[in-house]
Amino acid sequence: MSDPARLDATLRRIDGSGYGAYRVLRDRWRFPRFDLHVDWVQGDPFAAPSRVRVVVPPEVADLPAELLAGPSRRIGVAAALHRAFASRVGEPGMDREVDGSGRSGAIEVEPPGQAVTLHTALQVHADGSVEVRFRVGLPARGRRILGDEARRLLLELVPEIVEDTIPHSAHDPAVLRAAAEISEDQDTLRAALPALGLIAFVADGARLPRASGRDDRPLESEAVVPFASPDSLRTRIAVPNAGEIVGMGIPEGVTLVVGGGYHGKSTLLRAIATGIRNHAPGDGRERVVSRTDVVKVRAEDGRAVEAVDIGPFIDGLPGERPTGAFRTRNASGSTSQAAAIMEALEIGCSALLVDEDTAATNFMIRDRRMQALVPGDREPITPFVDRVRALHRDVGTSSILVLGGSGDYLDVADLVIAMTDYRAEDVTAAAREVAAAHPTGRAVGSDDFPWTPSERVPVRGCVSAAKGRRPRRVRVLPGAVLEFGVERVDLSALEQLSTDAERRAIGHALALAGERFVDGSRSIPEIVDEVSRAVAADGLDAIDDRRSGDLAAFRPIDVAAALSRLRTLRIR
Ligand code: ADP
Ligand code: MG
Repeated sequence: MSDPARLDATLRRIDGSGYGAYRVLRDRWRFPRFDLHVDWVQGDPFAAPSRVRVVVPPEVADLPAELLAGPSRRIGVAAALHRAFASRVGEPGMDREVDGSGRSGAIEVEPPGQAVTLHTALQVHADGSVEVRFRVGLPARGRRILGDEARRLLLELVPEIVEDTIPHSAHDPAVLRAAAEISEDQDTLRAALPALGLIAFVADGARLPRASGRDDRPLESEAVVPFASPDSLRTRIAVPNAGEIVGMGIPEGVTLVVGGGYHGKSTLLRAIATGIRNHAPGDGRERVVSRTDVVKVRAEDGRAVEAVDIGPFIDGLPGERPTGAFRTRNASGSTSQAAAIMEALEIGCSALLVDEDTAATNFMIRDRRMQALVPGDREPITPFVDRVRALHRDVGTSSILVLGGSGDYLDVADLVIAMTDYRAEDVTAAAREVAAAHPTGRAVGSDDFPWTPSERVPVRGCVSAAKGRRPRRVRVLPGAVLEFGVERVDLSALEQLSTDAERRAIGHALALAGERFVDGSRSIPEIVDEVSRAVAADGLDAIDDRRSGDLAAFRPIDVAAALSRLRTLRIR
């Protein structure tokens, strides 16, 4: 008997039985056009739906060799298929295809988002096979199995959806080709940055504004002003598919983005911050790239800080609290921002991005009058403006700062970009003249970055996702909060994270780190490195063996950032 016939017979046999009988489905079922793996069966129709995987072999997926040539292309194609699959299962009426209580008949796939990265929901493997991971609600009335509905779901609906979304013939070939090529071009653009001495590149024609502060899709409006580079910053980069891309290169050093309120400063900085990863064709940012290790930092009062050397910025706190290994359960705006910067330096970062909208003013600036009123020996903070040059010169970390409100930075900037009506202009020369004509009169202390690089070593056992009898509890709650064992880690200040799938993957990466690598001798960079090595060797399943479709690629630097925010972290 063929497997579909066997599945059909099984579902007829368990029709009307108690829900637990569904457990017999846990197996691999060979359909004519794909394999269906049932990896985990839900306990009742109201629980999280069951986890399944469809593996479509190369001859059925029929993806041409050019789409499979290299990881960049495969990831681009996978993202396009993921979108197709997600929009097919999200079609109106899909929730009425199968009857039953609770989530009976649900077909759910992790939403793809705007980013194009490795994602476990849909993977195109090097051999041309396609693996889709999703969840199905096995149908029941109360706790009684509805066999007919289950047959409709697994033997008709799932094969139909797979046929509609996975084989090459189901798509406009030009769309899949563009997905592959644009992904490859973006990786080439990004890889070109270091040799050109650039931190970021924003192509002419890019459409930066988003639909809303909570919606990462492009703003669809006639009023969008496409990006255009100032002449002085125009850079050309050759890419394999589109030929030569022209746009604005932001060099290493200290860059200011100035301009009136509501003129597009924060939008530009956010686009640069998201340039760490690829975006889908049509997103508007598919030719906006930055080095993979740029870090957007912000004030985050209330966070915990564990043994971070914030000495370069803050020294001599009240009560003689040491700042060489600063600890607090409840950081202030300025100490949290200092900690975020020093944590980024600990793991290695080529540029910091700071927006005045989310920065602590007393961390960023201290003008002449305040210097006169509050003497230096009573002010523990050395503002960022006094360290930003040395940070670049001595440590090699650049800065891109959005600052419409303080001219004090004009003295320390290598490049000043003005945004006016969403148009970028190079106003560096004018800024120099202004700085010369209007001295700030500020007293400036030593021009150095008093820091000895060091790496924190967490004590064994302080990172654990265990909860009660569960060895691992990792979930993402609304508001970018990670449930991690019995702890909650607020990831909302890590603005560069783009989806819950990425946050969840970071949670599992931390869990793996706690189980295997936090041994009391490895430092945070070493721990994060071990996690990266595991993922490089075995893919995202290395961090979580449930084979679930809800994980997306993440940066090592963000695992370190999440670890630094874990309130159980203890440094030796
Ligand atoms: P700023 O930081 O200078 O105050 P924002 O970047 O917050 O300004 O942008 C203000 C508004 O303008 C936002 O609603 C944003 O979506 C919109 N916007 C930004 N860039 C553009 C653009 N290139 N074209 C049209 N609207 C834009
Ligand atoms: Mg702003």
